[in-house]
Amino acid sequence: MEKYDVIIVGAGPAGLICAEKLSRTDLSVLLIEKDTVFGDKVCAGGITRKGLGIFSFPDNIIEHRVCKTAMHSPGRFSHAETPDTIMITMDRKKLGNFQRARLDNTDVAVLSGTRVTEIRKNSLITSSGEEYRYKYLVGADGYASIVRRYLKLPVKKKLIGIQYIVAVPDLDPKLEIFLDSRHFYAWYGWIFPHKDKMAVGCCCDTRYLSSKKLKEKFHRWLESKNIDISDAEYQSAPISYDYRGLRFGNIFLAGEAAGMASGLTGEGIYQSLISGIEVAAYITGQKEESEEMKRVIRYNRIQLRIMKLMIYAGPLRAVLHELIIMLMNNRRFKEKVNNSFS
Ligand SMILES: Cc1cc2nc3c(=O)[nH]c(=O)nc-3n(C[C@H](O)[C@H](O)[C@H](O)COP(=O)(O)OP(=O)(O)OC[C@H]3O[C@@H](n4cnc5c(N)ncnc54)[C@H](O)[C@@H]3O)c2cc1C
Repeated sequence: MEKYDVIIVGAGPAGLICAEKLSRTDLSVLLIEKDTVFGDKVCAGGITRKGLGIFSFPDNIIEHRVCKTAMHSPGRFSHAETPDTIMITMDRKKLGNFQRARLDNTDVAVLSGTRVTEIRKNSLITSSGEEYRYKYLVGADGYASIVRRYLKLPVKKKLIGIQYIVAVPDLDPKLEIFLDSRHFYAWYGWIFPHKDKMAVGCCCDTRYLSSKKLKEKFHRWLESKNIDISDAEYQSAPISYDYRGLRFGNIFLAGEAAGMASGLTGEGIYQSLISGIEVAAYITGQKEESEEMKRVIRYNRIQLRIMKLMIYAGPLRAVLHELIIMLMNNRRFKEKVNNSFS
């Protein structure tokens, strides 16, 4: 049986960055990924400003640098143009390959095309029937994490994200947000600009609006906006925001396996990267929560409060949406929103 100091399950943003950080230590590390390609994930591909300092993302993986935004409610709209990039959009496979390449010439062993099928105390079994022993185990295996299930932590808080990837040759590249409670309840609709295409989607917590209902409403909204989806690719996936911590003895959770995504926006890449770094630091001896991790928890908590306010506002929600867009035409309010959401 092969033995490793650390075994990481899942090579998404969280698992890959955790492996990269641990590659700079003396620990032996095995990263196991069920797919043969890296980063093939349903996602709108947006990384907001606060995540841009984690790597210097090379130009060839960036599809668009967003400086122009538009926010809409049924009765109003607000436009903004910022001197700095507030978000970049990228292709998730390119992000996966970029992060994977950072492990080249390191001692991290990478096993792709291999699914972890069973977790045991101090060892795990893969789809090829091999057993690997670990001192520390990291579950970075996303929403349906087998490691989280082993820890008996069910996912109770989740969103469903649905989107179409629409080809648009002459795209006016701006990030658009739609607050419209008739279609998206307490959540929102989005248009993220990519190269010659856009991701048009929405999300909601299925406890308040079923996926079937959301899809119906989304289709009605697409029709009302004259967005042609006849040749577009449909994608959907759940998103966990049920955070219960990262450390469980010698087992750790990172990224969406830990429920690190935002319950309001569904944003999760930035949170996955920070929690992956945090887990690597815990394994190498850090005792206290880092300032960056505290910031992420605070950020997610504020977004949850806004989400709850929007849910409990009931019929007043539509009024709140109009008020927000009205205030977005005030420079100071706009700056505050841009700073806290990007
Ligand atoms: C429609 C939609 C749009 C979104 N848009 C955005 C966005 O614009 N910006 C943003 O920040 N977030 C967005 N998200 C959320 C974001 O995609 C996730 O939060 C993020 O990918 C989580 O990263 P992760 O590394 O934790 O997990 P993942 O990216 O899910 O990676 C987990 C990895 O583990 C592997 N794995 C799973 N099980 C096993 C197993 N048993 N054995 C081995 N390997 C396994 C998987 O193959 C996968 O590669 C969106 C989500 C959806 C659904």
